[in-house]
Amino acid sequence: MIFDPEIRYGCVRCGKSCSHDWDIWVHRDLPSRIAPHLAGLGLTSDTAFVQEEGRVRLARDSHGCRFLQDNLCSLHCQLGVRYKPDFCRQYPWFFIDTPDGLRVSASYTCTAVLQAEGPPLSDQRAELEQCLDRNPAVAEIVAQWDESRDFHRRFEEAVSSELWALCLLRCLEQARSGRSWDALEPSQGQPGDMSWPRRLVLGALLKPCLDHDQRLWEELDRALEDGGEVKIPQFDYCGSGAQLLEWCGTPFEEESELERYRRSLWFRRQHLLCDNALAGLLVNWAPVPLYRVLARLTDEHQALARIEMTIGHGRGIERVFGLLSGCLF
Ligand code: SF4
Repeated sequence: MIFDPEIRYGCVRCGKSCSHDWDIWVHRDLPSRIAPHLAGLGLTSDTAFVQEEGRVRLARDSHGCRFLQDNLCSLHCQLGVRYKPDFCRQYPWFFIDTPDGLRVSASYTCTAVLQAEGPPLSDQRAELEQCLDRNPAVAEIVAQWDESRDFHRRFEEAVSSELWALCLLRCLEQARSGRSWDALEPSQGQPGDMSWPRRLVLGALLKPCLDHDQRLWEELDRALEDGGEVKIPQFDYCGSGAQLLEWCGTPFEEESELERYRRSLWFRRQHLLCDNALAGLLVNWAPVPLYRVLARLTDEHQALARIEMTIGHGRGIERVFGLLSGCLF
């Protein structure tokens, strides 16, 4: 195992992650194992589970998972960890299988991870090994590994003496002109004007971080296009699209949390889930403009959690970045 050095984790019992509107699919045996205990948990099979598309997922109400009681998982507290769905038993850990070893990181949607509360991952080897014995979800990165390996080394060398953002922008420009991983040179060239892809990236990725509301999304598209007014009620924002775009390019005085998240994305090699270098580099670039907007609409921690929800947990996100890169060529 290779541990993400940015991650510390010890559950702070906030219950926040169980309040998300995630679809948590469960093993088909789980409902029958839990059935005899449902009444004791104040639930019925109809209130606890939802059948959809031939599969079963946990039911939710406006507070989140129906098993969440007083901010704690009632399955865990009353029946034991063995009764929890596999997804919940693995959360917040991420496993990424690479030819160099199994990379272990964790989700920034988790309060403890966000606040770096608890011991480092390297101190949690026994629990992680138990989790691995249960056949967890493991992301596999094999494609592009060999050609990107030298690039990673060159990039890490370059950022030891130059700004990370500068090295990344150089590579983005080079990838945009068609270079593949093995030809990217992070320490060569000048970055071009990156203001124009901001609108595209913000238009594509801010929406999944907001309430799903078709009218709001259309208004946002229009405002980013013409710079006009847009209202985002969930954040009490009433301002212009031009303002949102300006925020994208306006750093905060202190961005260490964002830097830490970017290092975790890099550690996870999240970019190698994409099928071309430009799409992969955009994965590393996108959190910056998104963060600078979302942190101004909410706060730094919420901003990172929403970005992680979109990039780290977003199913099919690699296709989104693939489409974006197609627009940028
Ligand atoms: S089953 Fe337990 S751990 Fe899983 S989402 Fe529900 S309350 Fe949270």
